[in-house]
Amino acid sequence: IFLREILSNASDAIDKLCYRSLTDEQVGMKREDFAITIRPDQEARTLTVSDNGIGMNDTDLEQNLGVIASSGTFQFRQELDKDAESDVIGQFGVGFYSAFMVADKVTVISKAYGADTAYKWESEGVDGYTIEPCEKDTVGTDVIMSIKPDSEEEKYDEYLEAYKLSSLIKKYSDYIRYPIRMEMEHSK
Ligand code: ADP
Repeated sequence: IFLREILSNASDAIDKLCYRSLTDEQVGMKREDFAITIRPDQEARTLTVSDNGIGMNDTDLEQNLGVIASSGTFQFRQELDKDAESDVIGQFGVGFYSAFMVADKVTVISKAYGADTAYKWESEGVDGYTIEPCEKDTVGTDVIMSIKPDSEEEKYDEYLEAYKLSSLIKKYSDYIRYPIRMEMEHSK
């Protein structure tokens, strides 16, 4: 669920900039320049999904990602059991928040198209979030999920394995119309 939601957001963001590039020469990108990149880092225990879409400024981050974390909805959802949780996510369309099913911290680094400053949004879920200026050269968004430690019931480690990710993406995100890239190791 979380991977599908995060990839679908990345794809929507690319749609927006790609569409804009048709009428705005300033964008300077062609259809084939747009892509999503996935980077699992087992040492840092992070899974990063990057897009070169429209990006978000500080207000966007606050309004698009901030609202649920600061309202009671998220806390309510965290108290539900797993099956109910996936239901609720579908119902309220709080797609981005599904990242917290696998991550204990989510960092979003984004630079909006046309903006000079990039911003970092960070949240550990229930306690709300922070937003601060940061460095990012290119327009677009990095969603960095700090993957939870393995538990008895759930093997979160899987979400740091390139082959597992690749098979999940093929299965659930086949409809995405932009390339999804990930470096993989091949042994001979
Ligand atoms: P939905 O996608 O159903 O609107 P989400 O919770 O998944 O709900 O996302 C909320 C909003 O955050 C999106 O509508 C979009 O405006 C913004 N957003 C999320 N991810 C990205 C991204 N990678 N790039 C730009 N905007 C994003």
